[in-house]
Amino acid sequence: MIPLIKTLLPSKEELLPKLEEVLYSGYIAQGSVVDEFEAEFAKFIGTKNCLSVNSGTSALHIALILAGVKAGDEVISTAVTAEPTNTVITQIGAKIVWADIDLNTGNLCPDSVESKITNNTKAIMAVDYAGTPINIKRFQEIEEKYGLPIIQDSAHALGASYNGEKLGNHFKYTTFSFQAIKHMTTIDGGMICIKDDKEFEKAKLIRWFGIKKGVSRLDNDINSQGYKYHMNNVNATIGLVQLKSIDRIIEKYIENGKYYDHELQKTEGVELLKYYPESQPSYWLYTLKVERRTDFIKAMADNGIMASELHKRNDVHSIFSDFKTPLPHVDEFEKTWVHIPSGWWVTEKERTKIVESIKKGW
Ligand SMILES: *Cc1c(COP(=O)(O)O)cnc(C)c1O
Repeated sequence: MIPLIKTLLPSKEELLPKLEEVLYSGYIAQGSVVDEFEAEFAKFIGTKNCLSVNSGTSALHIALILAGVKAGDEVISTAVTAEPTNTVITQIGAKIVWADIDLNTGNLCPDSVESKITNNTKAIMAVDYAGTPINIKRFQEIEEKYGLPIIQDSAHALGASYNGEKLGNHFKYTTFSFQAIKHMTTIDGGMICIKDDKEFEKAKLIRWFGIKKGVSRLDNDINSQGYKYHMNNVNATIGLVQLKSIDRIIEKYIENGKYYDHELQKTEGVELLKYYPESQPSYWLYTLKVERRTDFIKAMADNGIMASELHKRNDVHSIFSDFKTPLPHVDEFEKTWVHIPSGWWVTEKERTKIVESIKKGW
């Protein structure tokens, strides 16, 4: 079976000597390796303030705190995502206000978002679902017009870009996840890119109990709530080795995605996504809309190809029942949306087979 998702670790020859070195270095906590990983990651994104953390969820939590979201406030979000995007909002005690999606991409619809803004709205959580960039131009306008921070959850979209600039450069906060199955893994880990230099300094405190690093404990005074969210030198070592080949890996996702974009045009029973102008997805999953999805998934499985919706629309979870609202486009997307494999492991031969299997019909 060609899997839909797969974990990628560097070769033993590349990784184990570095891991052995760090493990017995006497410094496995957060130290200079973490600094180095952040600097290399920032270089990869083409931005400056990148703060590593222990998960993508922690990165989102820090973004919400920086955005000033408190218990009882409203955060506009999407139901088409993985659950952490939304559980982190209720974790703060804030209310989720669901906006509808754009059927062209499955991502939040800017017009729907605008219609949901109230005096209680404190932030907008926008997800580049499956690796497809959100409508960056429109969301930048919204950030500007309403003075509302956009938190871009780019957990699926490492290496995706807009106007030739990688995601991580466009909004006040952009977060990434290095969990096992994302484009790049550090086993677990995350990153938050922060535009404002002062907020970046504040984020460092939130990441580590509110304690200032580099100042003795006796001279430290904790004056705001912090958490234990830092990355350690061991995970950062894995990240540094992973970054050496990340360009090549992401290029493979993009090559496969572009291949499907081209080959699956005008295929009966299939509707492709329509990306926003100047945006380049990084195709963590290749998403399409198909008729009779259950039959499609079964036909793919019969051909040795894993296809799946992978995620459940988030608004149906009991924990979110207080926030229920009609989302007609999500209802429609939910019936047809499916993903096929497009990652680094999909060979030219396999992607040809995937296209042929789809073209055969189901
Ligand atoms: C994976 C993921 C996260 C959370 O990342 P973790 O590193 O697992 O905490 C957040 N948002 C989305 C959309 C994700 O897929």
